[in-house]
Order: sequence, then C-alpha cells, then structure tokens
Amino acid sequence: MNVTYACPQCDAPLRQNFDESTTELTCPACSQRVETPPGAVEGNQVRRCLVCPSTDLYVRKDFPQRLGVALVAVGIIGSSVAWFYGSLLWTWVFLFGTALADVVLYLLVGEALMCYRCGAIYRGVAEMDSHGGFDLETHERYRQMAARMKS
Ligand SMILES: [Zn+2]
Ligand SMILES: [Zn+2]
Repeated sequence: MNVTYACPQCDAPLRQNFDESTTELTCPACSQRVETPPGAVEGNQVRRCLVCPSTDLYVRKDFPQRLGVALVAVGIIGSSVAWFYGSLLWTWVFLFGTALADVVLYLLVGEALMCYRCGAIYRGVAEMDSHGGFDLETHERYRQMAARMKS
C-alpha cells in the first residue's frame, strides 16, 4: 500500500509505502514526522487517514485526469483536421477511437481511497468499497472547515 499526500510542514508532494506496522511517516524534504493514528491500518485495510487523521474517506476511480483531457483534445483536434482534409473515415476514427480509449481506460484503472479533509490518496488498499463513494455533503463540510481555519 502507498499514500500520496502533501507534507503538512513544507507542502512537498510525497508518496510513501506503509503497512500495518507503520507508526510514522517522515518527510524526506524537511524531516517533518507525521505520527499515524493507532489502528488506522488493519491488515490491508485503511480505517482512517494516516496523515490528518480523519475517518472520512471515499473511493474513487484512480483515473489519470490529464490523460483523459489529452484524449479528448486529440479526438477534437484530430477529427477537425481529418474533416478539413475531407477524410470522413479518419474523422470517425479520431472521434470514436479516442472516446472508446477513454472508456477502456476508465474500466482498466483501479480504485483509490481519498481523504476528504487533507486530500491524501491511498493505493493498493483492500476493501476500499467499505468507505463508500464520494459524498458532496461531507466534502462541503470539510471545505467550509478549511475555509474557516484559513480566515
Ligand atoms: Zn516536509
Ligand atoms: Zn487526511
């Protein structure tokens, strides 16, 4: 299992492996140590966020956003160019080929566990579904909490 998060001290983007025996995460950039809450990891399951340590986590498709956007762009540009040169076949290839690739990619990618509060991403965790999907209300609550803390 690994976690991707921003160091609470220096905001460096970090990815670190962890397991049930992990008790702290250390930032290689500023040596800030985050003590992980006891019982946060059970076997290969994550019960609460190791970083912040909220219990509100949700599952989402671990979709590479940039790749998705790039695919759409290639589809639009490619089909426009093909259309300009009068090739109906290539227009369709670009339009539907990229749309199809998008769908296939979506089906192939795994799931990741996200923390509402600090945005930490967990990969390789077992039984992520037990946390449920994204809930806008919970998200909104944490967003407002973060806004209050800043002001
Ligand atoms: Zn740091
Ligand atoms: Zn968190």
